[in-house]
Amino acid sequence: MTDFYLNDWPMNNVIEYLPHGFCIAWNPQLLAMHVISDLLIAIAYFSIPIGIVYVAKRRPDAELQPIYYLFAAFILACGVTHVMGIFTLWFPLYYTQGIAKIVTALVSVATAIYLLPKLKHIMALPDLGKLTQINSALAAEIESRRQSEASLRQSQELALQAQKTQAAFLANMSHEIRTPMNGILGTLDLLLDTELKPGQLQLAAASKRSAASLLSLLNDILDISKVESGHLTLRNSPLQLADVFADVEAAMAFDANSKNIELRCPAEALPKNTYLGDSVRIRQILLNLVGNAIKFTDVGHVKVTCREVSRATQQAVLEFVVKDTGIGIAPEHQKNLFKRFTQVDNSSTRRAQGSGLGLAIVKELVELMGGQVRLQSEPGCGTEVVFSLCVGLPSECAQTGGERAAQTTAATQTAVTRVEQFRGKILVVEDAAMNQMVVCKVLERHGLVCEVANNGQEAIDLLSREQFDLVLMDGQMPVMDGYEATALIRSGSVPGVNVDIPIVALTAHAMVGEDKKCLAAGMNDYLTKPLDRTRLLEVLSKYLKKTD
Ligand code: ADP
Repeated sequence: MTDFYLNDWPMNNVIEYLPHGFCIAWNPQLLAMHVISDLLIAIAYFSIPIGIVYVAKRRPDAELQPIYYLFAAFILACGVTHVMGIFTLWFPLYYTQGIAKIVTALVSVATAIYLLPKLKHIMALPDLGKLTQINSALAAEIESRRQSEASLRQSQELALQAQKTQAAFLANMSHEIRTPMNGILGTLDLLLDTELKPGQLQLAAASKRSAASLLSLLNDILDISKVESGHLTLRNSPLQLADVFADVEAAMAFDANSKNIELRCPAEALPKNTYLGDSVRIRQILLNLVGNAIKFTDVGHVKVTCREVSRATQQAVLEFVVKDTGIGIAPEHQKNLFKRFTQVDNSSTRRAQGSGLGLAIVKELVELMGGQVRLQSEPGCGTEVVFSLCVGLPSECAQTGGERAAQTTAATQTAVTRVEQFRGKILVVEDAAMNQMVVCKVLERHGLVCEVANNGQEAIDLLSREQFDLVLMDGQMPVMDGYEATALIRSGSVPGVNVDIPIVALTAHAMVGEDKKCLAAGMNDYLTKPLDRTRLLEVLSKYLKKTD
């Protein structure tokens, strides 16, 4: 054994004594005890770092990583010192053992230095129980959020569905109401054009006013739904304030006169420029406000004015004032009036009719036109509504528009009062007998010859046999609707049918997008029921020749 050690071991020249494994005092049991325990410790120390490194790789907590690796190295080094302990029983590798101890010492000191300052932080880390608790709380919160998200999505879907149902209901009701309204207003118009006794005239005019106010209520409801869905689009065409004021005055004169109230819309004080804007909507705002003013005034007057308050290169701001000497509104009622369906007096005994939508629409329209509206009122003294609007300025607007204003007004008046005569044969495609009669009578008054088709299919048959100059096409009809009939005409697949014949929609569908739907089907223009005479004349002038 000694020979083996002295001859073969590289450190033999520095070791002058026998390792204690050869010592006579170390009996085999003692040796075995040291060897086995050192071996087991070493095996454990070599396997523990494997576990630590495995954990370190899977738990990438940035702060604890170095500690994991230092611990692994420290335990590994300890394992090496225990192996050295076995070797040095028989081989005097005390230098190597010393080096292993130095390495172990260095690693353990480094671990201690790194670990001690971190202890506070490590202690602050939640223990496993707490983590599990936090984890389950988080899981519960995620689940509850998921549930509320799902219920939100469900409510959103329901709201969308409700919105769609509401839109469909409105479109349907609008169609159903407009169709008979066309009949009522049309027949009343025709009746008023005949020779009537004064009493009869009064009755017919009163019926027409009631029908018109019913139509205006329907339009208000449609407008609110259009604003709500963001579908209300504004026109931007040249307008003269004098025309707008003249229309408002003409429309409200009867109501004012019948209450003995003076309606003042002084045209001379109005700006004379041509502006760019939506005259129909401006008129609608004024009609609403003047209508209210007359409704709630018993004595005195209602005055409407407008002035230009500022101007930039392409825009001007107009300020309108509608002032009355009526019953006024108490301060506590003033703030809510611009909300929908709000009325000062909503009792069943209230003095005036109304839906409570007027001021809400005024506000929506004014804001859409970049303006603001405010109301000042004192009970017993009267009410003043002031609103501003942004309007465009046409590039050549520097000119004074007085002359042009006068011309336009005259032209509009001629269009309304004179019964213009046209030449041509019209095919009226319409399923409601009352409307067939009204439309034909109106067209005949303008010198036109009419023929009627009850549905799209009949229209195609007639068009293939006879020549027409224009088709007035209803949308919704039995057998074949107006859109399908138009598409068929435009397709050129029916022999004898003129594919280019002007087709004008005359539909009770006045909802958003209906005009686009008609144009997309191949129609040239779009008219809504009840038939507006001015719009009808515009359309007839576009497609037919006038007789001299
Ligand atoms: P309505 O269709 O009921 O007139 P509006 O929204 O136009 O609805 O008006 C709401 C309410 O505001 C009216 O019912 C009335 O009580 C009050 N109001 C509006 N304008 C006037 C006014 N010029 N004078 C007195 N009260 C008014």
